[in-house]
Amino acid sequence: MTERQTFEHDVLVIGAGGAGLRAAIEASAGGGKVGLVCKSLLGKAHTVMAEGGIAAALANVDARDQWQVHFADTMRGGQYVNHWRMAQIHAQEAPARVRELEAWGAVFDRTKDGRILQRNFGGHRYPRLAHVGDRTGLEMIRTLQDHGIHRGIDVHMECTIVQLFKDGGRVVGALGYDRERGRFRLFRAGAIVIATGGIGRAFEITSNSWEYTGDGQTLAYDAGADLIDMEYVQFHPTGMVWPPSVRGILVTEGVRGEGGVLRNNLGKRFMFDDIPDNYKAQTADNPEEGWRYTQGDKQARRPPELLTRDHVARCIMREVKAGRGSPHGGVFLDIAWIKDKLPHAAEHIKKKLPSMYHQFKELAGIDITAVPMEVGPTTHYVMGGIRVDPDSQMSTVPGLFAAGECAAGLHGANRLGGNSLSDLLVFGQRAGDHAARWAKAHGGGKVDEAEVAAAERAMLLPMDRASSGGENPYAIQHALQKDMQALVGIVRNEADMLAAVEKLQQFRARAAKAAAPGNREYNPGWHTAMDLHCLLTVAEAIARSAASRKESRGGHFREDFPDKSATFGKLTTVVRRGGDGSMQLEHVPVPKVPADLQQIIDENQK
Ligand SMILES: Cc1cc2nc3c(=O)[nH]c(=O)nc-3n(C[C@H](O)[C@H](O)[C@H](O)COP(=O)(O)OP(=O)(O)OC[C@H]3O[C@@H](n4cnc5c(N)ncnc54)[C@H](O)[C@@H]3O)c2cc1C
Repeated sequence: MTERQTFEHDVLVIGAGGAGLRAAIEASAGGGKVGLVCKSLLGKAHTVMAEGGIAAALANVDARDQWQVHFADTMRGGQYVNHWRMAQIHAQEAPARVRELEAWGAVFDRTKDGRILQRNFGGHRYPRLAHVGDRTGLEMIRTLQDHGIHRGIDVHMECTIVQLFKDGGRVVGALGYDRERGRFRLFRAGAIVIATGGIGRAFEITSNSWEYTGDGQTLAYDAGADLIDMEYVQFHPTGMVWPPSVRGILVTEGVRGEGGVLRNNLGKRFMFDDIPDNYKAQTADNPEEGWRYTQGDKQARRPPELLTRDHVARCIMREVKAGRGSPHGGVFLDIAWIKDKLPHAAEHIKKKLPSMYHQFKELAGIDITAVPMEVGPTTHYVMGGIRVDPDSQMSTVPGLFAAGECAAGLHGANRLGGNSLSDLLVFGQRAGDHAARWAKAHGGGKVDEAEVAAAERAMLLPMDRASSGGENPYAIQHALQKDMQALVGIVRNEADMLAAVEKLQQFRARAAKAAAPGNREYNPGWHTAMDLHCLLTVAEAIARSAASRKESRGGHFREDFPDKSATFGKLTTVVRRGGDGSMQLEHVPVPKVPADLQQIIDENQK
């Protein structure tokens, strides 16, 4: 076997997005030796792409905001299958985490009196998103990196982790390879935090980058951890639809927050046609009121374009299916119309939405200050993921923690915009803190050399197979993405999902024959062959969980069960690896909300 490098850390953090960086900073605060691994260059995580902002009840723009309202909004947005304790911690601690980020140097947009400015976003009752134009994620990553760099964290860039190792039931190590030279790297650690982000690349149309192949969810699952809520995938209503090369790229909800409206090809604002009962009291019933809301009128109710993402995405699909869509299969999102309302509208749009202006100008040749954009749903986020203890973020495997998008519980069936960046800060901090404590209390463990050697041999198989032909890993990946989009996408039904489960078994058989010609250096075909295991695992978890939930809720919509079910509304779907290696599924009760918090939810329904 070829040489391998070995590293020792008290805490190893896998993933250097917002959650991983925040966890690493906290873990190192206790004085422990911390390692941070990421697939690409430091600073290039998904978090950097975040546009709209960070949700926190700072009450800078509307004094009525408070953690209780944020908590109730999050629970309602998640359709009450969220873990109440995570939603409570998140709403209570987000303001402190945002102020801390500011203290570390983040330069937010300002109110006239110099406080952090907050903007409107879907499902949030008051303007709540702290932001930096539409480049909030960039500022967040920059700040966390600057802060983290001075803590002496060891950063291992362009390294993909493929397997975890346990000693007596607890996690003690991880094996990866460096993406340039293909050399193996073994990490021994007292505790491991997974912060690897999402699964968007399991679908054909996505706002996610190449890195989001469900690695963390799979690493945890393979190590014996529970995954929950995997049926809840968020299809963001507004992705670019044209030209084909940019299909799926996100168009931030901030456009609608700034007054952008959705229209069909008849010029109609169709979102007024379908306002869910539980949002009627808080939603404008005419365009004038909706506009006033976006301009900060506290007496006005929000426009229906700012209803939750799952609902808006389905309304768009309805218009497209009914033949009222835009030329390239989407609908129109119009921010240019605000020139009827504001004197210097074009400058205003460029100032508030600089990236969107640039994105459409560069990629589609469209000036959004002058004409509408064409948009349609895109796979954006996964609410499901690794089951964690709400306070410590430890998974069901001792010593293994998870934070950020790869963890689950906070968002229930649907995530509100802005609640991810706050999730990363709040639970990244907690995961780092608890992982450091765990490592201190338990020390390191023994990594079994035979297991490591076996994992290394398995990693090399795609190259060994190349001499005798084998399957092209890209072809398998592409077919899988197409089938997931078609069979387990925005609108689902039993027959399609069962067909998907069946097809995934066939893909698994093909993946076992995936071959990568060439050697270990700079070999993306080999990397893709290894990614297939992760994509197949999360795809199967999504398809099986979705087929088992015989109702529609949040991001999970079934045409054969279009309504919510009281029975399923009390159940969380869990998947775990069985003794024979097959995926086992179980429904367990959603944790019951304590009476005092239930009262907060009820009061905020009005
Ligand atoms: C275009 C876009 C705009 C968004 N806008 C907003 C917004 O305005 N507000 C909001 O709240 N949310 C937003 N989101 C969602 C939010 O950005 C993400 O959910 C969040 O950034 C995820 O952060 P994370 O730290 O969990 O993971 P990421 O930021 O996704 O980082 C994951 C890290 O894990 C590493 N990694 C993955 N697999 C491995 C492996 N096998 N080995 C080693 N390293 C690995 C990656 O290299 C990366 O460093 C947006 C998302 C997108 C795509």
